[in-house]
Amino acid sequence: MKTPKKVDKKKSRTPPRVNENDTNRLMRGIGVSGGVGIGQAVVIERLTTEICPKRILSPEEVPHEISRFEGAVEAAAERIKSIKKHIGPHHPLGDHAYILDTHILLLKDKMFYEGTKKAINAERQNAEWAVSEIMMRITSAFDTIEDEYLKERARDIHFVGERVLRVLMGISTESKIHQLPPNSIIVSHDLSPADTAQIKRECVLGFAIDMGGRTSHTAIMARSLKIPAITGLESISRQVQTGDTIVIDGSTGVVIVNPDPDMIFRYRERQELYKKYQQSLMAYGQLPAVTRDGSRSVRISANIELVDEMEIARSHGAEGIGLFRTEYLFLGRPDLPSEEEQFEVYRQILKGNAPNPVTIRTLDIGGDKIAISVSTSQETNPAMGLRAIRLCLNRTDIFRTQLRAILRAAVYGDCRLLIPMVSCLTELVTTKQLLEEVKRELGSDGIPFARQLKIGILVEVPSAVAIADLLAKEVDFFSIGTNDLIQYSLAIDRVNEHVNYLYDTLHPAILRLIRQVVSAGQAGGIPVSMCGEMAGDPVNIPILLGLGIDELSMNALAIPMVKKLIRAISMDECRELTWQAFQMYEAREIHGLLESWITERFPKDYFIDQS
Ligand code: PEP
Ligand code: MG
Repeated sequence: MKTPKKVDKKKSRTPPRVNENDTNRLMRGIGVSGGVGIGQAVVIERLTTEICPKRILSPEEVPHEISRFEGAVEAAAERIKSIKKHIGPHHPLGDHAYILDTHILLLKDKMFYEGTKKAINAERQNAEWAVSEIMMRITSAFDTIEDEYLKERARDIHFVGERVLRVLMGISTESKIHQLPPNSIIVSHDLSPADTAQIKRECVLGFAIDMGGRTSHTAIMARSLKIPAITGLESISRQVQTGDTIVIDGSTGVVIVNPDPDMIFRYRERQELYKKYQQSLMAYGQLPAVTRDGSRSVRISANIELVDEMEIARSHGAEGIGLFRTEYLFLGRPDLPSEEEQFEVYRQILKGNAPNPVTIRTLDIGGDKIAISVSTSQETNPAMGLRAIRLCLNRTDIFRTQLRAILRAAVYGDCRLLIPMVSCLTELVTTKQLLEEVKRELGSDGIPFARQLKIGILVEVPSAVAIADLLAKEVDFFSIGTNDLIQYSLAIDRVNEHVNYLYDTLHPAILRLIRQVVSAGQAGGIPVSMCGEMAGDPVNIPILLGLGIDELSMNALAIPMVKKLIRAISMDECRELTWQAFQMYEAREIHGLLESWITERFPKDYFIDQS
């Protein structure tokens, strides 16, 4: 959300102005864990592969080198296990200890483990060289992929590779992590979960990292530890020295190197403000999403990718799971998840959320989300290629297994099945036929399953909007996926930074498409949800309520703020603002309308200043 123009700058809570000279040097990255940290940089140097010794082995040396590598892998695994032991159930990272288990498993990842042994064997490279080569190959293979999650998984392999290298070369960087002085801001090219797990929480005031995005494990852990963090800073680890004073603002993604006293003073104020704001917001999460005039017409749910996110969803006040992206079960692994494994995950989520509803989206893989286990051919235009329901109907073996698991798990809660990327009626009809076949199969096998399962579609392709009236007759609910709907209808590749400036949730075309879906839903007597990112941005809320959306599903962290906003408006105001927005010709005007409104209504609110 942009900073509204009406705010009096003197009283404003916007971040203080900074320049790019030597004091107050400004850097920008992605704010992934909110809050302000002011402290001294501790730069964790990177173990560069250039410093690895390189040597061609004699044939006789090969067996010994392979066992040296295997020994280093064992030692690395032991080290990670011992780090894990220190994370007891009451440690703030207790919920994330599984990441370390994943790293232990990754040490034996086929690409990494077998690949390295092959390089030692066939190319007669010494172990350090072979490991660094394999790490480089894995990194460059993943470099061409846009999907942030997959990139993170490649980085996980990198972390374990570095750990093995450290053992092979007898280098330890852990001492630095262990001996952090108080008030440290960790500055690093990257930071592995094992490193993060070893820090003394009370000594660390922030993370400033070159790499990574919102789904990096550093980001996940920083949020759990409630440590402000910024990733994607590109070169901070080269630009900052240990001992430099730095300020990091995890809400805006701003880093200030060598701030002057005035800047520090202003950021201290902002730090206090942020703390108080967060404390006050959390309470809203547990309140009902009821408008000022008593309308309780919208359900607030969370989008999740992993079972572990359920707790965050609950503590932030989610009234159900509006989108469970099941593809994360399939990504970053060489094999397919079995029916049993899937069943167990779906069951846990359904049981854990009962009696609240859980919307399970069937596999949305393909396009930029590549699963190693599901080989798809190279496509020129993957976003419009064999992905989501198209891929599932092409690989019915995978789809049937998933449907079986969902149908079985649905006995344990209020389950809704969501089909992504439907672009015509045939896809929906075929899916429903397949579902019936799977039900018959389960029935004849004598396996318990839910006979009545609500089926909905993600409305995210413009053709689905155009035939929403027809589709409404065939489904129990609609869920609008604005992330893709905007991409396809405005012809903007959602992962291309060059056209990102055109990506606008308040484009009059998008509002009209949403209105059309809601009208078709209402005429067909089915509820309409929204689970794209648009649903969690407070500025959109009056219009989404005004249009009559029944459920908003969002990143759990956005829920308290959204509930606060809903509780402060009336449905009449929402309808009035919606009416006004529909008289406007350009997104810019609509932004102006909503931002002025929100600024007037919440002049003291912190979140409106996060830009
Ligand atoms: C969407 O497209 O809006 C959506 C919710 O799905 P995803 O972001 O996973 O494509
Ligand atoms: Mg989508």
